[in-house]
Amino acid sequence: MSFSALNLDPKLLQAITDAGYSTPTPIQQQAIPAVLSGRDLMAAAQTGTGKTASFVLPILQQLMSQPVAHPRPVRALILTPTRELAAQVSEQVAKYSQHLQPKLKHLVVFGGVSINPQMQALRGGVDILTATPGRLLDLIGQNALKINQVQTLVLDEADRMLDMGFIHDIKKILALLPKQRQNLLFSATFSDDIKQFTNKLLHNPLSISVAPQNSTAEKVEQQVYQVAKGQKSATLIQLIAKNDWKQVLVFMATKHEANRLTDKLNEAGISAAAIHGNKSQNARTAALAGFKSNELRVLVASDVAARGIDIAQLPYVVNFTLPRSPADYVHRIGRTGRAGMTGLAVSLVYPDEVSQLKQVEKLIGMKIPQGSITIDPSLQLNDKELTQRPPRPPRPQPKGPAGERAAPRQGAPRPARKPAAATGADGNTAPRPGARPGQPQGQRKPQSAGQNSPRPQQNRPAAARKPQGPSA
Ligand code: AMP
Repeated sequence: MSFSALNLDPKLLQAITDAGYSTPTPIQQQAIPAVLSGRDLMAAAQTGTGKTASFVLPILQQLMSQPVAHPRPVRALILTPTRELAAQVSEQVAKYSQHLQPKLKHLVVFGGVSINPQMQALRGGVDILTATPGRLLDLIGQNALKINQVQTLVLDEADRMLDMGFIHDIKKILALLPKQRQNLLFSATFSDDIKQFTNKLLHNPLSISVAPQNSTAEKVEQQVYQVAKGQKSATLIQLIAKNDWKQVLVFMATKHEANRLTDKLNEAGISAAAIHGNKSQNARTAALAGFKSNELRVLVASDVAARGIDIAQLPYVVNFTLPRSPADYVHRIGRTGRAGMTGLAVSLVYPDEVSQLKQVEKLIGMKIPQGSITIDPSLQLNDKELTQRPPRPPRPQPKGPAGERAAPRQGAPRPARKPAAATGADGNTAPRPGARPGQPQGQRKPQSAGQNSPRPQQNRPAAARKPQGPSA
């Protein structure tokens, strides 16, 4: 099948040709006609299948055929769980809409950056808005926009949104949308929670499944290395160096370990950067750009940060630690073998992690082949160093009177330390009671401001970064 068989406007076909696509991917073949017909959609598709174009192209076609009102109401709303994914969806909107005349206005908004430029950019209205839920609610709360004329709602990576505790924000958003609208839901996995949610949200949806539920991307070769305790960093360095791997995405359990491993890789002469929720948006963007342009060989990422990374032909994914939830394994390795390219997903497993590996194998319905590698004895690395925390900076001296902080009274008991506040995935979300699966209460340390957890309203950062303005 060719794109021209999908009844798309020649200006969209031109953009598709410019992008170098010759045939629509399976999800595009099925979703584009359904979306054009106005139907709701429930699509089981992971990143790398071409799912973004499968909703962006028909949305553009629908909007371009309508007269433009002034000010422009938001007519298509795309919700994503992470800033990175929001930015990448927005890049695709800009790419596919480049030849449209008159132009459609598109804006991407997410937390972790100053809200004011986003409010300014919304003046005069936009046709298509891509947003993370927390920042969208903030903007609505500040009267910067209304969503009562949305015709098409897209929930991208809906499973991830629920995992990250966005359900309350999403319910608030749904209540502000017009009842009559088209709903398009994309999810890599369909747990019972997500099925329950979609049953309420979607009306007579067309169900599409391009990769069978919970299956791993077809073109991904998988390998597991059983590693002696303490030897994962050495194994990773050996694998990268010996096989001359470039563009390796490594998943770590914690941000701290991600930073330490990044240091170790750089010390071993393998250029690497870390990407996680404690990094500023600027640092994350720079790391991603360096990785995409091959200046960096390795990107060491926390799970959520890595979720939105869209790099065509990402060849190597490494699970330094297996994910807590086996379904996340599917998400992670969906980073590679994208849009028909082959890829290699490698998992490093300690003897005491084999039971986790078994759960993954049960979910994907196959035994992952074992690889073996001899570690160069000169690599005197031990993973213990990854978990050793740098020494704490000295506590600031209590300050004197005159409006400064008073020294605690002698003998007075020290107040209990509050757990540090944590951030929503978009860096700007209200506290959410929904915990991520696999992170039972009481087993996880309170996080420092990170990307995975809810955060009180009053701690919202306003990092100085210019958000992307409307693409048209
Ligand atoms: P997505 O699943 O939307 O994240 O898309 C994954 C990658 O596939 C993106 O880099 C797209 O640019 C690319 N892509 C989308 N559609 C096609 C297509 N029909 N042919 C080749 N590549 C595509």
